[in-house]
Amino acid sequence: MLVVKTIEELKDVVFRVKSNGKSVGLVPTMGALHDGHLSLMKRAKQENEVVVCSIFVNPVQFNNPEDLEKYPRDVEGDLKKIEPYVDVAFTPTAKEVFPEPPKEVYDFGQLDKVMEGAFRPGHFNGVGIIVKRLFDWTTPDKAYFGEKDFQQLAIIKRLVKDYGIKTQVVPCPIVREASGLAMSSRNQRLSVEDRMKAANIYRILTESLRLKDAPIQEIKDFVISEINKIDGFKLDYYEIVDDTTLQPVEFADLSTGIIGCIAVYVGEVRLIDNIRYK
Ligand code: AMP
Repeated sequence: MLVVKTIEELKDVVFRVKSNGKSVGLVPTMGALHDGHLSLMKRAKQENEVVVCSIFVNPVQFNNPEDLEKYPRDVEGDLKKIEPYVDVAFTPTAKEVFPEPPKEVYDFGQLDKVMEGAFRPGHFNGVGIIVKRLFDWTTPDKAYFGEKDFQQLAIIKRLVKDYGIKTQVVPCPIVREASGLAMSSRNQRLSVEDRMKAANIYRILTESLRLKDAPIQEIKDFVISEINKIDGFKLDYYEIVDDTTLQPVEFADLSTGIIGCIAVYVGEVRLIDNIRYK
């Protein structure tokens, strides 16, 4: 595995690979890697001749400076984990990626006006900035994103469409811990007790599936009241949305795909998860 730190090196290696007619798969990450991330890399390895993985804690997608500061980092450990699946690891500094403060402004329509976009102002513009740059430098044939960040996936699909980017966006299923808790780099910040408690998020979402034919409001009320019963949980939102527009669904019949998305603080750690109803 080649480890490159500069954009020039990254572009050079991609140029050589592509000149040899080889396909490139990209897996963008912010590091502190777990089995969820590795599932994306394994899939990329199966489907591409060369796999590029970026490890970069993107400062411009953090709306909360404390969250950025406390975000777990372990590049050395990460490089060991990805070695079996990745050909090129891109581990730039913030100065390398942003020699000047970035000025790009993206218009994602209504997609970033709800849920994470509403609770984390500027977050998706920051995601758009880094992913567009990574796509420009890497020109991947395929790029891999987890369904755990369901709204992010919709935003990336829109970015690719709006800019005519020739990259196939590959959605990958959520990988969970044995308890059902969706794997997340942020789980490292949970105490042992909170980590056990956090498993209630998926338990409640799963239990709500038995209401999937009930009125949407009833499902929402159930999840919200069950979450609020748990000591130490603070709900940011639970929304049941159309899986393409991400707008709240009132009548299930009007959408072909419906997904419930949650953001909840467990102590001081903000976790997200989602579940498909249709
Ligand atoms: P992050 O490092 O959190 O920015 O995540 C990098 C990529 O890994 C994103 O596409 C995430 O959606 C994906 N990812 C993170 N956690 C999981 C998980 N538990 N299962 C599947 N994909 C995940």
